[in-house]
Amino acid sequence: MTLPSQLTLEVVTPDRSLVSQLVDEVQIPGAEGYFGVLPGHTPLLVTMNVGELWYRNGQQRSFLSIALGFAEVLPDRVTILAKVAECAEDIDVERAQLARQRAEERLTQRAVDSDGERARLSLLRSRTRLQVASQSLR
Ligand code: ATP
Repeated sequence: MTLPSQLTLEVVTPDRSLVSQLVDEVQIPGAEGYFGVLPGHTPLLVTMNVGELWYRNGQQRSFLSIALGFAEVLPDRVTILAKVAECAEDIDVERAQLARQRAEERLTQRAVDSDGERARLSLLRSRTRLQVASQSLR
C-alpha cells in the first residue's frame, strides 16, 4: 500500500468552514495533549481542548485558535469539527485582551461569582487567541 504524500485538512465550526486544503502536517490540541499528524497516520477520533492548531505547507505554518470539538484523523484526511475557531489573522486582539481581563477579574472574585469553570474556560480561550494572534505577526 502506498502512503499518501499529503493530508486534506478541513476545519469547520457549526456556522462556517475555515480551512479546506491539502497540507503536509497538522498539530491538534487534543484533550490529552497536543499531537502531530503526518500523512499515513493511524485512524483516530479524539476530543479537543482549548488550544492552538497549526498546519504546515512546506516551510509555511498557519495558526488557528480552537475551543473544544472533535478531530477525526485518517491516513489521508484530517477533519476538525470545532465548537469555536478563528484563523490567526481574523482574531480581534483588543476583544481578546478585554475578555482575558474580564475572566481574570471573575476568577479573583470567585467567592461572589461561583461560576469559576466558565471563567477558567474564558481565560483559556482569550489566552489562546492572544497566543495565536501573536504567531501570525512573526
Ligand atoms: P468575548 O467575551 O470577547 O465575546 P467569548 O470567549 O465569550 O469572547 P466565544 O463564545 O468564545 O466568545 O465566541 C463567540 C463568537 O465570537 C465565535 O464565533 C468566535 O469565533 C468569536 N470570537 C470571540 N472572540 C473573538 C476574538 N477575539 N476575535 C475574533 N472572533 C472572536
